[in-house]
Amino acid sequence: MRVAVFSTKPYDRTFLSRAAATHGHELTFFEPRLDLTTARLAEGFPAVCAFVNDTLDAEVMAALASGGTRVVALRAAGFNNVALDAAEQNGVTVLRVPAYSPHAVAEFSVGLLLALDRRIHRAWARVRENNFALEGLLGHDLYGRTVGIVGTGRIGALVARTYRLGFGCQVVAHDRYEVDDLKAIGVTYVGRDELIERSDIISLHCPLTPETHYLIDEAAIARAKHGFVLINTSRGALIDAEAVIGGLKSGRIGGVALDVYEQEADLFFEDLSSEIIQDDVFQRLLTFPNVLITGHQAFFTEEALLAIAETTMGNIADEEAGKVSPNRVLSENVAGKG
Ligand code: NAD
Repeated sequence: MRVAVFSTKPYDRTFLSRAAATHGHELTFFEPRLDLTTARLAEGFPAVCAFVNDTLDAEVMAALASGGTRVVALRAAGFNNVALDAAEQNGVTVLRVPAYSPHAVAEFSVGLLLALDRRIHRAWARVRENNFALEGLLGHDLYGRTVGIVGTGRIGALVARTYRLGFGCQVVAHDRYEVDDLKAIGVTYVGRDELIERSDIISLHCPLTPETHYLIDEAAIARAKHGFVLINTSRGALIDAEAVIGGLKSGRIGGVALDVYEQEADLFFEDLSSEIIQDDVFQRLLTFPNVLITGHQAFFTEEALLAIAETTMGNIADEEAGKVSPNRVLSENVAGKG
């Protein structure tokens, strides 16, 4: 099938081209993000391949459909950026990659916590300047601390296991579905409020839905333990960044590590080192010594990119062959999933 690939980076070309060859797809790579202005680039392409910060709202769906597109293949797991109703109304099938190395994201999220709490990123910078002083680098043992995992799906379950079995933490979890294997290793399921109240570290692994939007807001921060640490590798809008700034200023929040940010579409995946960043909230977050931010790179391993490319191209091949792919995203199945 002819596929218009948006938000293309060099690594996308490498991995997607290889997978496309095995499925006989013909890819055309576009660097810009998909939005209403760029949607016309997809005219005449039966399939579009999109990424996390592409706009796939109702207007874009209508524009794609009128240009002849009938398949949107997301090379991502999350689909909170997609107007599924509009896709269905316009006869566009949406596909995603539900599982690709959850290890990539789980391992990165634990890595963020270790770097943040033990100040590894700051130590690296100091040592390069021949500054071997330890003041300001004091961390904590993880052993015995309580970690709260919100969402024990593929990624959250791995994170829960790592903290429990790898570090000997107490792990509390919140999800509407309880995982017996986690309970068997001593993970305790609790309500969301109790998780927030009990946790020294809160790690977010649920999808972004109306129910989880700003789940870490001013009220949650007020309820949490003094000095708690927040880790978010899931979706930016799970936290209210302005409330987090308030919590950091008052000392109520002891540290924050983020791989995602609500307004990341204007920032991430680009080199903006010579630009003036207009997002004052983001810039303020960067000023705190106890905040560590990465630009949505948790998924970025060779294994994950191989799996994403293969599943994305396989999804398109299934559609071409008239098969109903299990990776179709339907609005009726959305509640609580992601
Ligand atoms: P998953 O679907 O396997 O697991 C999500 C879990 O969240 C499910 O168990 C679900 O029941 C639970 N959940 C849903 N609503 C909830 C709620 N209101 N409260 C508590 N739990 C709730 O998804 P996954 O593969 O583990 O991915 C988790 C999230 O990680 C994705 O939604 C995506 O946003 C994010 N992600 C980020 C990156 C990255 O590079 N930073 C990469 C992949 C995925």
